Amino acid sequence: MSPDPQALRARHGAVSLLAHPSPIERLTRLEAALGTGVRIYGKRDDVAGIGGGGNKLRKLEFLLGDAIARGCDTFVTTGGLQSNHARLSAAAAARMGLGCELVLADVVPRHDADYRGNGNLLLDAIFGATVHHVPGDTDPLAFAHIRAEALRAEGRKPYVVGAGGSSPVGALGYVACAWEILDQEAALGERFARIVVPNGSAGTHAGLAAGMAAAGADVTRVQSYAVLATPERAHAETLALAQATLAANALPGRVSASEVVIDGSQRGPGYGIPTEAMREAVELLARTEGLLLDPVYSGKAFAGLLAAIRGGAFQPGEAVLYVMTGGVPGLFAYRGAFNQETSARSLDIDGKSAAA
Ligand SMILES: *Cc1c(COP(=O)(O)O)cnc(C)c1O
Repeated sequence: MSPDPQALRARHGAVSLLAHPSPIERLTRLEAALGTGVRIYGKRDDVAGIGGGGNKLRKLEFLLGDAIARGCDTFVTTGGLQSNHARLSAAAAARMGLGCELVLADVVPRHDADYRGNGNLLLDAIFGATVHHVPGDTDPLAFAHIRAEALRAEGRKPYVVGAGGSSPVGALGYVACAWEILDQEAALGERFARIVVPNGSAGTHAGLAAGMAAAGADVTRVQSYAVLATPERAHAETLALAQATLAANALPGRVSASEVVIDGSQRGPGYGIPTEAMREAVELLARTEGLLLDPVYSGKAFAGLLAAIRGGAFQPGEAVLYVMTGGVPGLFAYRGAFNQETSARSLDIDGKSAAA
């Protein structure tokens, strides 16, 4: 099988929600700030599409395609309150003319107005989704199936997807992305020593791993930082999903346990709980490149990449690729994690600094 991302999308009836390929940019001001001689690239999956952008759009291209092929009229999915996947599902369903119902679980211990009303939750409402809140200790997917029964009773045709859209269908989005990266490497004349992503529901890492395997390329170049599950559980989920993605879609190649490389050092106290390294990573990339990471996923994974670069994991002249997965609306639910005092200065009309 030739690793052609457009042919894969066409074969599976994927809809179009973002521009392909997403751009790859070299981050030279960040390189200079680190001063290690390592070449750092960012793949802009955060800006290439609708709804504020982000990695879930690649999965949703295949999931919405599948839903439409099955004649479904309502997209039902799950996540945490500040789920980027939920927000992009709402945007994608609107774009494709489907209804959208979101079952959002209260999994992060936050009770303030920012977390419970701003960021992704504000956008869910603007995109017109119906939001169901469930307590953190209930299984949101079980609730989604109950909700789907009720919709069927009303004559609707629901399509139910679990958190993160990380099914063997959704993961095809990152199989296509892996092939896109191989094409872009060839065009750039560059070879990335490592391709780094966050790992939440495992679909991004699993899809990239499956894509590399199907193309006969080195699977271990793809490495992720677990931000949700323990690294052991993330490893088991990623391996199982990579294998299921190859098998369910009749793709060649295989992924073995030793080829799935996951680092658990950046998760901190838990999912959705800020770390100091995340804050430093978000601010460093913002202040050197004008680019935004998010507090839950990409800020933590990028902190891990920074630690690896600073710790000498790469030779000068080696290149690394960071896949920017989006999630920027999450910043508005995490105001307290960032230091606003240092920038909150106002100037008098004569240019002298006045008290903030
Ligand atoms: C969901 C998400 C991830 C993680 O992707 P998975 O496929 O769930 O592992 C990374 N970054 C952002 C911004 C996300 O929303």
